[in-house]
Amino acid sequence: MSDLLKEYALHELSPSDKEAVVQRPRIDFGSIADIVGPIVDDVRERGDDAVKELTKKFDRCDLGEVCVKLSDVPWPEGLDKEVTDAFDTAFENIKVFHEAQRQEVLEVETMPGVTCRRMSRAIGSVGCYVPGGTAVLPSSALMLAVPAMVAGCTTIVLATPPRQDGSISPEVLYCAKKSGVTHLLKAGGAQAVAAMAHGTQTCPKVDKIAGPGNQFVTAAKMMLQNSEAMVGIDMPAGPSEVLVIADAGADPAHVAADVLSQAEHGSDSQSVLVAIEGVDISEVQREVREQLAALPRNDMATNALSHSFIVRVGSLEEACEFSNLYAPEHLIVNVDDAERSLEMVENAGSVFLGRWTPESVGDYASGTNHTLPTYGYARMYSGVSLDTFQKKITVQSLSKEGLVGLGPAVEVMATVEGLEAHKQAVTKRLQSIHSSNS
Ligand code: NAD
Repeated sequence: MSDLLKEYALHELSPSDKEAVVQRPRIDFGSIADIVGPIVDDVRERGDDAVKELTKKFDRCDLGEVCVKLSDVPWPEGLDKEVTDAFDTAFENIKVFHEAQRQEVLEVETMPGVTCRRMSRAIGSVGCYVPGGTAVLPSSALMLAVPAMVAGCTTIVLATPPRQDGSISPEVLYCAKKSGVTHLLKAGGAQAVAAMAHGTQTCPKVDKIAGPGNQFVTAAKMMLQNSEAMVGIDMPAGPSEVLVIADAGADPAHVAADVLSQAEHGSDSQSVLVAIEGVDISEVQREVREQLAALPRNDMATNALSHSFIVRVGSLEEACEFSNLYAPEHLIVNVDDAERSLEMVENAGSVFLGRWTPESVGDYASGTNHTLPTYGYARMYSGVSLDTFQKKITVQSLSKEGLVGLGPAVEVMATVEGLEAHKQAVTKRLQSIHSSNS
């Protein structure tokens, strides 16, 4: 039987081969923008009516009200205790980890009498996009709304595609109710992003939109952040991906399960295995084939595996070097002494360290956030965190002594830049100080 994952040997790849191998499957943003642009314009112009029409077209659902206050929606009934207990555990861990990210006001005296501070304030109104086209993702509701709640955002709109009867999944509703969501926008895709960015008759306008989604969601976020909508976004996100570093001691069944857990996300997902010398690759390939056959999302995972691959390397150092070049959203390090790899990790969204840390734990419940930069953006973006829902405000305060010490330098710099009024704002104060001293 043929192998599912193609294989490369790192030492046989030229620098340009390596660059080519780490490229993600291309997204045709041009043609997606042609679809998304008119949707965004329509929602901006017609608000809820446009959202209703687009939801009927794409989600085959006749919406009543587009956006409702969550306090008007009752808690869902009929959820198993086992299910609510699991989401409660995840909720607590995510809350604890994101609460721990709160920072004290930072205060530094840069020179005598010159004090600089930095403080955090919540972004007032935020939108959380919870994908729902091909899978119901209540975990994403927690990953977005809990940090927004911990940050202290006063308006939290959660958008997710409705089911055909106009309802949303009870699990998503349960997580939204727990996590301080204030408004529920029953829409998905570009129309949901546009509704939050511009506001509609029922949906409050938000200042920032966070959350993953398909190419229509991503294109709308990128388009709107550069528009008159005045809205920020968390990051450009593409299809999900994992890079697994494994050594000879890694159980092939575990490695295969990790590769597949990513592949089942969607046809556009990518899994990469970086196998250090000694890994039984044919056993991993066999496990992948066997476990794949038993997956309900077999079709999607099979498609994802067609653009996934294995790279053979000689050492952990080489493995980390390749991983840094790829900049994975998720990095699993299934090796002896995994801690040693950490100092070599330069580019990754989130790291899953050691033999007993599958990606699934971070996807759901360890406490870290699963909304992470994909597509190589881990080179310059971080995943969602408390910071996503806050802005930092700097403060400076000078004593007379401080202005006497710093003022002359500012006067000179303002003169160099030809900004006389800037200079005078200092000069006049220095004159007041000198005249009150004389
Ligand atoms: P989605 O909610 O992102 O998109 C569904 C919506 O897309 C629909 O409601 C519909 O309005 C719109 N749509 C569908 N076809 C369209 C068309 N032809 N034209 C215009 N709009 C259309 O759900 P999804 O499609 O399942 O995608 C989820 C994505 O999120 C996947 O790519 C997955 O990998 C990603 N994801 C990423 C993370 C992460 O943390 N990075 C987590 C979960 C999911």
